[in-house]
Amino acid sequence: MKLKEFINRIFLVEIFKGLSLTLKMLFSKPVTIQYPFERRKVYDGFRGKHALVRDPFTDNDKCIGCMRCTTVCPSRCIYIKREKKENKMVVIDYVIDASRCIYCAYCVEACPVCALVLTEDYEYSAYTRNSLIFNKEQLLKNWDDFIKKWQGDFYFNKFWQPPGIDPSRWPKTKREQKPIPIKRIIENSKEKADESSN
Ligand code: SF4
Ligand code: SF4
Repeated sequence: MKLKEFINRIFLVEIFKGLSLTLKMLFSKPVTIQYPFERRKVYDGFRGKHALVRDPFTDNDKCIGCMRCTTVCPSRCIYIKREKKENKMVVIDYVIDASRCIYCAYCVEACPVCALVLTEDYEYSAYTRNSLIFNKEQLLKNWDDFIKKWQGDFYFNKFWQPPGIDPSRWPKTKREQKPIPIKRIIENSKEKADESSN
């Protein structure tokens, strides 16, 4: 045993080094937070809970049943039931199995009318798999719940216009997509509340 090693053992140098580190950390800023009392800021474009965007002007979903999202989904977790009515494609039901989703956002990028979004909402753990299978009504409700908490005047999801692709190659509807006015949504909900009270 070398002399330095011997001294270290006798005077418990390593233990004191460890204790000094513990003492130092006691007075430094913690890297963890007290969830759920504290929450981290969620940045735009976070890939969270799925939602079908409710068009603030028609109050309905914007899906045109083109099936691009189902085709591009690598997990095959989007199911669409559609029917042709008076030469128009009508979406009867739209289902996403979130328990199989890998949150790649390909569906959001592929949608030509920006009808689908992965919101910044991440608090939706569930006890059963069925609770993570969202149908059309639930997907619209996911949007309503999410937008109620939105702080800004407009909403625009960063995956609606995929980076690295020449904008001239996007469908016209996607190129002209405008941020969604939250004020208009609030007015709509007030109108609805007035109608139901009359
Ligand atoms: S995020 Fe990816 S895996 Fe999830 S539904 Fe969309 S395309 Fe499918
Ligand atoms: S890509 Fe968009 S418009 Fe087409 S079916 Fe999917 S959600 Fe609907």
